[in-house]
Amino acid sequence: MTYKNKNPLKNMDSVLSKKKLLNPARTMTLTYIVSLTFIAGLSLFVHFTLDEIISEQSHSAKVINISGQQRMLSQRVTLFTTEYINLGNEYAKNEALAALNKMQNNHKMLLKEHFLAVEANTPSPLSDDMYALYFLAPHQIDKNIAELKTLITQILSKQSTDISFLPRLKNQMLHSFDTVVKQYEQESINKINELRHTQQLILVVIILTVLIEGLFILGPLLLKSDSYSKGLLKAAHFDYLTELHNRRSFSVIAKQAVATSQRYQSSLSVVSIDIDHFKSINDQFGHDAGDQVIRSVADSISNNIRSSDFAFRFGGEEFLILLPQTNILDAQKLAKKVHRNIINTPVNLETRNVDITISAGVAELNIGESDLEATLKRADEALYKAKNNGRNQVVLHNE
Ligand code: GH3
Ligand code: MG
Ligand code: MG
Repeated sequence: MTYKNKNPLKNMDSVLSKKKLLNPARTMTLTYIVSLTFIAGLSLFVHFTLDEIISEQSHSAKVINISGQQRMLSQRVTLFTTEYINLGNEYAKNEALAALNKMQNNHKMLLKEHFLAVEANTPSPLSDDMYALYFLAPHQIDKNIAELKTLITQILSKQSTDISFLPRLKNQMLHSFDTVVKQYEQESINKINELRHTQQLILVVIILTVLIEGLFILGPLLLKSDSYSKGLLKAAHFDYLTELHNRRSFSVIAKQAVATSQRYQSSLSVVSIDIDHFKSINDQFGHDAGDQVIRSVADSISNNIRSSDFAFRFGGEEFLILLPQTNILDAQKLAKKVHRNIINTPVNLETRNVDITISAGVAELNIGESDLEATLKRADEALYKAKNNGRNQVVLHNE
């Protein structure tokens, strides 16, 4: 295997890379706050638009109702004034006066906002069409009401008895009030349609925002968060340098393996491995080169075990292989295969191929043992023996 003098971490397609381990929770929270605020703002806007539609509708209904009343009042004024002139009864006079007053008050109420705006020198709330109806010929309702008031007051106070103008004025006013009601209705429908379009538009924007958020923000963030938690999980159970299981995960896996071995009365073996003279590699080529050797040995181990076996980096340059359903002789075969592979795989350090050797000790779980403690100890004794016998060999416990 060839390792150029590079930082191996940079080559690792590992979720442990610094970039991928950035906690996405902060970005997630921030993005969420921003998008939720946006959606909440839009929803508030929809709420207020609906509110405006409702108040617009009730305002229009009121205005249309009053304008309709004006029509009826103009009829009452002329009717009772005629009756008073013809019959001279006081009741008719009072009714005519009351209707006239009510008509005037209604008129003031309908144009209140307009007159306030004129006073304040601000734009009138009346539309151009509505303004024309009230103040310009041919309808000029404002002028006609004032004229009607003057003439009726004169008649009712007996200053004049000429009521010939009444039918004409009445018809004209009826026509004007009809036109005003129609105009109010049309303007109200227009305004409500306008508000409804705005509301629909905002609704579309909200739906799009939620979709975009789901597709482009929430989805990727969830994926990021998933890979982050996988990264954390990996960091907790795997060695960062070799990607083998770390020592912390050994107790859990070992416990499970022992339980299975006892349950099915199957054999369970371990191989303890230590790189020979590793210190001199560090001393000669540096710590980074030492790391490359560790990774090379780890790769040889990984590539030569079955998927049901477990490989651990136990310490600096020490490894352990856990072999379920494997007796000590089969474990020895495996250890020799790994040993062969390692000695046949020189590591390229500073453009030189450096031969690596290991020593290994093999032991098997004995019947009646409830954990691997004693087995590990026996494997270490065998490894110690291998070292004492001159290294670069595999030794079986009690060999
Ligand atoms: P022996 O054949 O008896 O095992 O000799 P050795 O030199 O391999 O044994 P020793 O235990 O004396 O040296 C192990 C060295 O491994 C010491 C330590 O500095 C080094 N080491 C431990 N962890 C790491 C690591 O993660 N990376 C590197 N490069 N070196 C490490
Ligand atoms: Mg050692
Ligand atoms: Mg060593």
